[in-house]
Amino acid sequence: MTDTDQDAQSRLVLSPHPLQRVGAFALATLGQGATPERLTPEAFEKTVSILTEHAVTAALARDTKSDRGFWLKASLSFFPNSKMNHHSNAKKDDVTIGDAVQAWRRCPERGTWPAAACVMCGRAAVGFFGKVDVPLAESDLYRNTTPRGHEGMALCWPCLCSFYALPYGCRLTGGQSIALHSWDEPFMTRTLSRRVERNKQLIALGRADPRGLPAREVLALQALRNHEDRLAAGVELLVFSNNNRGQTLEIHSMEQPIAEWLRRSSRPPRRRGFPALLRAHATADRPGIVGLARNAFRSPDLIVGACGRYLTTYLHQGVIREETADLAELCFSLVIEVMRMNKVEMDEIKAAGAQVAAWLKAENSAGRLRAFNATLKDQPRMRHWLMRRNIDALLDSNSAIEGPLITENQFRLLFDPEVEQAWFHRQLLVVSVVQRLHELGFKPEDRAEVAAALAAEEDEQHPEDIAYMNGEES
Ligand SMILES: [Zn+2]
Repeated sequence: MTDTDQDAQSRLVLSPHPLQRVGAFALATLGQGATPERLTPEAFEKTVSILTEHAVTAALARDTKSDRGFWLKASLSFFPNSKMNHHSNAKKDDVTIGDAVQAWRRCPERGTWPAAACVMCGRAAVGFFGKVDVPLAESDLYRNTTPRGHEGMALCWPCLCSFYALPYGCRLTGGQSIALHSWDEPFMTRTLSRRVERNKQLIALGRADPRGLPAREVLALQALRNHEDRLAAGVELLVFSNNNRGQTLEIHSMEQPIAEWLRRSSRPPRRRGFPALLRAHATADRPGIVGLARNAFRSPDLIVGACGRYLTTYLHQGVIREETADLAELCFSLVIEVMRMNKVEMDEIKAAGAQVAAWLKAENSAGRLRAFNATLKDQPRMRHWLMRRNIDALLDSNSAIEGPLITENQFRLLFDPEVEQAWFHRQLLVVSVVQRLHELGFKPEDRAEVAAALAAEEDEQHPEDIAYMNGEES
């Protein structure tokens, strides 16, 4: 073997395969390397031998249900049928098991290497590897990387070791594992180093994480909450198992704009409206962070919808929530930054909202506000309501508002069938009206006495949501 070959087989590279990348970052963290590519060959070798030591220790527990059996149990979801968790281990002595695990985790002899390139990185492969070593998740994307007629994929030693390190980079449940991936490398370094630190503690204890597992989508939001720099890419959540009882892989993706918006919104200095954003997503039996995380993976406009519903909850009683200004601001920032709404159109809708709010303030009546709010669910009624008030405003020389209530262009944005997002614009109009009424200190005499109940509700934040805002991890 030449020196260069030797060196290449001790240097991590990043491939396009998300799970290889997660493993490579985990391995680099374990070896105290800043990034996978900067891990020295010496540190690589040393770290790989530590991984083997952990595998031997776990195997010697023999029973996944034993006090120290968690790492062994987790291995069933990554390396089923391996020497680490072979069912015959119960009857074998420590030396036999230790030797077998070490042999499994040893780099194959040079003479046995196939004339094939690693499917991950293109360097010389050291063998073909299948399910025992690599999660062959049920996905066309990954299946295609297995050469025809072979039992597994051609891999070089560092890429194979990345898969050996993969469990350290995942949230382990004992069943399906959850990995967070991004093309943003500083985000990967930071997120993986936290995850690896935690897993090292669990390996040392041999026990599952005593903290409950949050909804899987929340793991992504926690990582965003903890990241200090601007994100250069979106994030993906990979939920997978290589277990004999069923190989699975689910991928949930969050685009960069919404990921970055969530990151910024949950951190100072922007986080003022965040507690209200969480309350807007909370239900009786579910913290807000779960609803928010799910909406973020599904569609950002669901978040706008939740904010709109929350801000208008008590309009029928003539009551505007105290936290309206902060939440409305957050909501508009999402519409501009994530949904990429044209700023000029947004300003038009806000201008119409301000006029409607001025009219309602002058009327100073909860009943009038209720009537306007009711039109949101009924497009022809809203249209009629606005036309009617517009004519009144134009005809009345003592009108409380200056100029028309609504301009032709604003009307077009809200109701023209050619405007694809007209329904969404109407939702934003109501948010604008509420925001402006809040600014104007709208408190009509005939509003219901719900203020005390509302204050209590606003103080009430789900404990999980409080933990999230404080940056606590699961
Ligand atoms: Zn490779």
